[in-house]
Amino acid sequence: MAFDVDFFVIGAGSGGVRAARIAAGHGARTVVAEESRIGGTCVIRGCVPKKLYVYASRFADEFSDAAGFGWTVGETSFDWPSLVAAKEKEISRLSAAYRSNLAASGAELVEERATIVGPQRVRLAGGRELSARHILIATGSRPTLVPEVDGIGHAISSNEIFDLPVFPKRLLVVGGGYIAVEFASLMQRLGSQVTEVMRAPNVLRGFDDDMRAGVRDGMIRAGVRFEFGCLPKRIVKLGDGTLRVALTDGQALDVDQVLLATGRHPYTANLGLEAVGVKLSPHGAILVDETLTSNLPWLHAVGDVTDHINLTPVAIREGHALADRLFGKGPRPIRYDTTASVVFCTPELGAVGMTEAEAVARLGQFEVYEANFRPMKATLSGSGERAIMKLIVDGATRKVMGAHILAPDAGEMIQLVAVAMTLGATKEDFDATMAVHPTAAEELVTMR
Ligand code: NDP
Repeated sequence: MAFDVDFFVIGAGSGGVRAARIAAGHGARTVVAEESRIGGTCVIRGCVPKKLYVYASRFADEFSDAAGFGWTVGETSFDWPSLVAAKEKEISRLSAAYRSNLAASGAELVEERATIVGPQRVRLAGGRELSARHILIATGSRPTLVPEVDGIGHAISSNEIFDLPVFPKRLLVVGGGYIAVEFASLMQRLGSQVTEVMRAPNVLRGFDDDMRAGVRDGMIRAGVRFEFGCLPKRIVKLGDGTLRVALTDGQALDVDQVLLATGRHPYTANLGLEAVGVKLSPHGAILVDETLTSNLPWLHAVGDVTDHINLTPVAIREGHALADRLFGKGPRPIRYDTTASVVFCTPELGAVGMTEAEAVARLGQFEVYEANFRPMKATLSGSGERAIMKLIVDGATRKVMGAHILAPDAGEMIQLVAVAMTLGATKEDFDATMAVHPTAAEELVTMR
């Protein structure tokens, strides 16, 4: 059967763009449809602008640390609109680069919403219909807003916070996951009084407990106020724009903005998936096998829309592997077990592999090595900052099964620990590696 195109990709985010470029490079006739800005969550309203805002926030620490090193820093002030404008310039540049890279690969970009209207058939919002040998859903995820809050319409999600016209002097962050912790940490440093509320007894469920405690303590040191085991019940907007939030513990809080960071869900609504019989999880994720193919052999999915590991590099790797398998020289193996992730609070938390609690559940015999120390810079700056590092070692194989780093630049360190773990490094391999002195990372090879 003849098809209009070989590959139709819905979603020009990290996973979709990579898949389209690789497929087109293999000679597949490829079309990518995008209803929003080119680049997806990561580039437009996620990782990239977030990291730029994290950089902005850390100048606050630098200014106060400088005195311990002999500097006198004059009066400082922060201008939110300047940061928003600088961010916008950079993400526009990146979005344009995505667009030109797609064009250079030979893939056609259509800036319209696409829906599936039948087996191997898509329709664009403008009415054009195409048949495609393979269709890739790479539509990512959307913020999940807690439904049971009265007045939820007054709250914002991470989609909106980047571009607020006015900097919120008082911010309530709801949730204890990646987005909540990152924004609480950065907005506090930029000058907001942040209160973070969550239903759990501590931040970052799923991370190692010692690291979770370290993140919480660091945020408290920075001035963030926490309310654990508590959520908003009602949000009322007062005449002067203040949001009065009633919490489930009976407290009332006046703030300028309420950020809901209560998870994300796969963006599969109204794509026509049910009509063609694609199997979805109860959460709306497209269920795919190890080849990233759904129960329909022509329909594939990568990235957040599968709700597997919701990280940009995973989506990119999956998109690449899929395009290679469908149109290139065969599969590219994907290793998920040594996928590291970083929470960009200050200091950062990087983690790869098992937590100590997981080791208890899954390893018969294991050892834990831990270092808890004051980073060298803090000796003169006088900041109360601590660094914590932990290695989980399988007692039988001696392999390092988990690494956890709460320290400045943990994101840079954990990437290289993940390489070592991918190679199957043992604790003895770490020990045999000469330390780089004076660094924080040397603790990783000197733990006893
Ligand atoms: P997370 O899953 O990390 O955290 C969600 C938070 O919302 C948790 O504290 C959770 O509580 C809480 N929550 C969930 N449902 C409810 C509810 N019904 N009522 C109250 N609280 C609720 O999600 P995020 O939104 O922070 O981030 C989404 C994903 O995006 C992450 O999982 C991550 O994969 C990715 N991401 C990665 C980043 C990075 O790599 N640096 C940065 C940002 C996002 P509980 O723990 O009790 O379930």
